[in-house]
Amino acid sequence: MAEPKNTNRKNAANLAEKRKLLPHPKVLADNLMKGDKAALARAITLVESALPDHREIATTLIDSCLAKTNDSVRVGITGVPGVGKSTFIETLGRNLTEQGNKVAVLAVDPTSSKHKGSILGDKTRMAQLSRDPDAFIRPSPSGLSLGGVARKTRETIILCEAAGYDIILVETVGVGQSETAVSSMVDFFLLLKLAGAGDELQGIKRGIIEMADAIVINKADGANLKNAKSAEVEFKRALQLYPPKENGWTPKVTSCSALHNSGIHETWNMVNAYVSLSKKDGTFVSKRAAQNENWLLQTIEDYLKTDFYQDEKVRSRLAELTDEVIQKKLSPFRAAALLIGLRKNETK
Ligand code: GDP
Repeated sequence: MAEPKNTNRKNAANLAEKRKLLPHPKVLADNLMKGDKAALARAITLVESALPDHREIATTLIDSCLAKTNDSVRVGITGVPGVGKSTFIETLGRNLTEQGNKVAVLAVDPTSSKHKGSILGDKTRMAQLSRDPDAFIRPSPSGLSLGGVARKTRETIILCEAAGYDIILVETVGVGQSETAVSSMVDFFLLLKLAGAGDELQGIKRGIIEMADAIVINKADGANLKNAKSAEVEFKRALQLYPPKENGWTPKVTSCSALHNSGIHETWNMVNAYVSLSKKDGTFVSKRAAQNENWLLQTIEDYLKTDFYQDEKVRSRLAELTDEVIQKKLSPFRAAALLIGLRKNETK
């Protein structure tokens, strides 16, 4: 049954009203580039929104921000819960703002919607840094798959850089593939560890060592100092077995106490040493270019997938064809070809 005319009129009026409330991308971009935190937060909310109107503004915004993203350093920080990530980021962040930097803290936590208590990048976990006028903290977008969270975080990095944040710290817990996602969006990837008993390399997920540009043993203080120092020696020895990175960088090992602000300065010097080396030999730029190419392909892939599965015809046929595949009336390959054919015929 058709909707009564006045309902249609009301809906249209509501929509027009909502549109009026939407910020103008140019105004928002100007305010954001002046470093206005409220504008930055608003822009990120648009980036995180699933509404088509919001997406459109977000895409325009990002276009106008892209040119301003060249002088930043992006650092990924990972480690198990309790290792001291938020303490480390708080201490490092405050040291960096004291030196005149502007620091943005973002997070990639695909589980944040399920475990509300452990939302990474939560301001309450970094109480002092969150009050620092030169710091901006944004928790992980929630309610999305890892792919979705990663995409939004990449876009958010660009917005933060345009707003004048020259150091971007991206925090993650090693859940699923989140470390891989973060390492694909940063210049430098840092693994925080605790000194443990026995074989120090045990319990680290395969692949993380290859991704890490540095391993930092935290809580090197008090009674734990000795253990931390011997863990450092052991990690150094073990890392010798790994080949150097493309630009000759061998992952460094150090220790620190985030709580007592010791070893943090040295850790940051290590990041700076890497940035200088990679800027000199061109790998800083080539790595970012490769990441951009990767994001482009990933975005297309995500778009095509979403677009395909959102199609009404595909959705209803998929259910029928799945039954036929289960009953062995049809091969999965034939079923896939039929589904893809549905879309192809549509676009002819
Ligand atoms: P996260 O879960 O990785 O973010 O870890 P937190 O930063 O929340 O730290 C977990 C606990 O370890 C807290 O009680 C911190 O105070 C403590 N902690 C963090 N860094 C250090 C450190 O360098 N030394 C000591 N002794 N405790 C620390």
